[in-house]
Amino acid sequence: MGARQGAAAAAAPMPTPPLSSQRLYPNLLDHFDAFAASAAGRRVAIFLDYDGTLTPIVRDPAAATLSPAARAAVRALACLFPTAVVSGRARDKVEEFVRLPQLYYAGSHGMDIVGPSEKKEAEEGAARVVGAGPASPPSQSLAFRPAEQWAPVMDALHARLAVDLKPIPRATVEHNTFCVSVHYRNVDPSRWDDVAAVVTDAVAATPGLRASRGRKVLEIKPEIDWDKGRAVAHLLAALGLAECDDVLPLYIGDDTTDEDAFKWLADREAAAREREAGEGGAPDAPSSASPASRPCALTQPPVRGAGVLVSTRPKPSAAAWSLRDPGEVLVFLSRLAAWGATPASGWHAAPACTGWTLAAGDARVGSLPAAAAGGAGWPPPSPRASEGPASPSTASAPGRPPRPPGGRGGVGGGSRAASGSGAPSPRGGTTDSDATSAPAPAAAAAAAAAAAASALGAFAAGGR
Ligand SMILES: [Mg+2]
Repeated sequence: MGARQGAAAAAAPMPTPPLSSQRLYPNLLDHFDAFAASAAGRRVAIFLDYDGTLTPIVRDPAAATLSPAARAAVRALACLFPTAVVSGRARDKVEEFVRLPQLYYAGSHGMDIVGPSEKKEAEEGAARVVGAGPASPPSQSLAFRPAEQWAPVMDALHARLAVDLKPIPRATVEHNTFCVSVHYRNVDPSRWDDVAAVVTDAVAATPGLRASRGRKVLEIKPEIDWDKGRAVAHLLAALGLAECDDVLPLYIGDDTTDEDAFKWLADREAAAREREAGEGGAPDAPSSASPASRPCALTQPPVRGAGVLVSTRPKPSAAAWSLRDPGEVLVFLSRLAAWGATPASGWHAAPACTGWTLAAGDARVGSLPAAAAGGAGWPPPSPRASEGPASPSTASAPGRPPRPPGGRGGVGGGSRAASGSGAPSPRGGTTDSDATSAPAPAAAAAAAAAAAASALGAFAAGGR
């Protein structure tokens, strides 16, 4: 992405996406002004996938480092809005990549959630969002690990796969705490079936696991009612933002598992519009509308949140907007931060909002009349110049948050096949080259066990 990542790129004209892409999901950069108009006077909450969203997909997963420009853009956003990274990676890995202690992190596809820790702040002088308005104080029990009891199972699975995949050159297995990822991007295509067979056998041998396919990766997770959509719901609830009409969540992601968050937001949006219509507001498309038939965001900007699909080509998705690649994501985040730091954004002027408070130095952001008027001290300075590595997990397991209104049955609702053995979301069928070239079902393994066959079907139909 190179040139797109510099400050100069932020001002460069954006390429026009293909017409088919615009019809499915309007490009968010093309319609930034419309988005900004819909977000004015409201608090934007930003949720970001990592691989393929903040960074390009690379051959070596360990080399997916965050560029300084992207880190600066995310840091600037975190000074203004609650900002979270929601990744399939182990949380400590993604924290190490991002190195911004101001953020909220949800690793293992949302199964390992923490907020900015007091320990980190004390040690590193980090800025932290600590306030969300007088009527909605943030929860002090934000950390959540719904798959904690699965840790030994995932340890054993990782150990098994490390052995079983050894005969397949360049197949790698990554332990992501509550999920295990098998990467086949560097494997000769003639061996992809062998990779799928190994994974299928391992899943079949361990009750309660399910497998799905991402971008040249097979993901194995506990079959629990939790996904990235539930993680977003948890974070909004824990921050006291779930029922605030002046909050606009935005989730940006590129892969199949991000669809769970897109869908949760789309359902939330549809429920809000139905309520609005019932109260005499403008009628809206029914909640059952397919993604392709949903109204263009240019004419109907989101009122309760939206997903943003990162993709260079149109594909079925529950997202409302699109960005082409991590380069465009960076440009969008930079524009959003610049807009959010001006009085034009108006979010700090909302009656219910006292703004976000930065813990370090008592520097308050937002809701200050002088700031809203563009007075001294506005926009606020960057919280700090350096970020340290992530600290060890301090997550605990408080009670599960209430299920979001309009949400589907989590993973078990729309994602699992009727067999219940772990097939991924049927929404995940896409045209991405990473997906269409994934391992084909392995006949021998399918004959060995029905569960194995189900898992392979997941690979064939579920990924991007
Ligand atoms: Mg991704």
